[in-house]
Amino acid sequence: MTNKELADLLLPGVSSDIEFYEKKYPKRNLSEKAIVTRFAPSPTGFVHMGSLFASFIEKKAANDTDGVFYLRIEDTDQKREVENGVTGIINDLKNFDITIDEGMISETEGKGEYGPYIQSERKEIYQTYVKHLIEEGLAYPCFCSHEEIEETRQIQEKRKQRIGYYGRFAVCRRLTPEDIKAKVEAGEPYIIRFKSPGSFDNKIKVHDLVKGDIEFPENDMDLVILKSDGLPTYHFAHAIDDHLMHTTHVIRGDEWVSSLPIHVQLFKTLGFEAPKYAHLSPIMKEEDGKKRKLSKRKDPEAAVSYYHEKGIPVEAVKLYLMTIANTNFEQWYDCNKDKTLDDFKFDFKKISSSGALFDVDKLYNISKNYISYLKATEVYDGAYTWASNYDLEFKKILEDHKEFAINLFNIEREQKKPRKDYSCYSEIKSLIWYMFDELYTGDINYEFQSITDKEEISSILKLYIEKYYDINDDKETWFNKMKDLASDLGYAREVKEYKENPDNFKGHVGDISMVLRVALTSKSMTPDLYEIMKLLGIDKIKERYSKFI
Ligand code: GLU
Repeated sequence: MTNKELADLLLPGVSSDIEFYEKKYPKRNLSEKAIVTRFAPSPTGFVHMGSLFASFIEKKAANDTDGVFYLRIEDTDQKREVENGVTGIINDLKNFDITIDEGMISETEGKGEYGPYIQSERKEIYQTYVKHLIEEGLAYPCFCSHEEIEETRQIQEKRKQRIGYYGRFAVCRRLTPEDIKAKVEAGEPYIIRFKSPGSFDNKIKVHDLVKGDIEFPENDMDLVILKSDGLPTYHFAHAIDDHLMHTTHVIRGDEWVSSLPIHVQLFKTLGFEAPKYAHLSPIMKEEDGKKRKLSKRKDPEAAVSYYHEKGIPVEAVKLYLMTIANTNFEQWYDCNKDKTLDDFKFDFKKISSSGALFDVDKLYNISKNYISYLKATEVYDGAYTWASNYDLEFKKILEDHKEFAINLFNIEREQKKPRKDYSCYSEIKSLIWYMFDELYTGDINYEFQSITDKEEISSILKLYIEKYYDINDDKETWFNKMKDLASDLGYAREVKEYKENPDNFKGHVGDISMVLRVALTSKSMTPDLYEIMKLLGIDKIKERYSKFI
């Protein structure tokens, strides 16, 4: 029996014409340096921080080189699937503005010339390549049962040998065509294994763009390439896909490093050019002076939903991801404040090979800085979008007082050193609630500082309202009047003056303005009091002060 006859016996009705696919998916018309890369998750319904980080880098690398970034869904292991698992992934990427050039755009649809982009739709393609391998004598059927495989494993374990289907343990490799024919005709179930040409004693070297040269023993395992359900295994499917989709760079988590000997062997045996590899170390976190992996279980920030819930602007998350992706980014950004992420050239060599360190405080700092440079209307839009999802009371307030809120956000904004109040949108309400009557109710805790005496507070507020407050005052006049008020009541006009002769005064102008601030807002720290008073207006000021007078 020839290999061709064997192949027909094993995969009847399947074509072995791989040329058909080689022609159908021609080389991409891109420049030499263009990076074609992919994000290739299983349809598990969500993306966690590690894979978001990888997809961010993948997209950036493709963008920088006018290449292609695509989303391929790897669903050959149907046990791992969840309902609407593709949609969840698509949404997570979308939420972080990681848009794809090609790939899945819904549960069932894809866009691009190199699809289908979901592996379960590519069954025929894989089977064609499997059949071709059988014809070439590079693959064979295996009839071993689960029990037999388990028995072998136990023997290997007992003898402290490597576990797997290789060498003399690869019993079905030695079946003659006649044996095979008899078993198939007897209806014995089978799977297809790759006939590894490797020897464990040989050493191979693989270059990784992050980790450098890595040496491995050559693969000698005859791994399964086609399962009994007619679907390929991940290893085989990804090699066919990356070849036909003309992936130039495989960027992924380093849990796949140990599979490299298998992958490079598959590419080589199939006659494919291997892609370049960049394996990313897991994101780390420092806790009690020790580093550990960012954990889905322990760290809320490991879930990508966290950023949406907290209302951290996507752009800020991206700035942070770039900060931990390339060690030189932070410095570059410091010197190029007017530039955007797109202006920065991503560099594989600047990826930390020991794992990026995730620091939430730093992320919030970046976010705070980012928000401080937004326009007031942009802050409003961000806060409004967040509130629409998470706080309908606040949404309504923002709606009812749009102009007021924008003016409020505009205080000390759009200047050289803008105020840095908000590190995320979810925190805004808790920082400005006192500006809205709807929220300025109930048991309010007034944070009076040096002046707490009720009589004194009352006379300060009274005199201010009666004699000094004028809505039309400019800031300088307003401040001078505050000083007049201070001296009227026996306080120093300047802090310095008070410090020089503390016995001559009851306090200083700062104590006075603190009373005006706290009686109006309850808070001892607010944005500029002059601006706040102007925004609230005389009626509200009087109303709020009347509580103390
Ligand atoms: N489907 C694999 C995963 O879920 C992808 C590995 C790769 O990128 O090659 O991680």
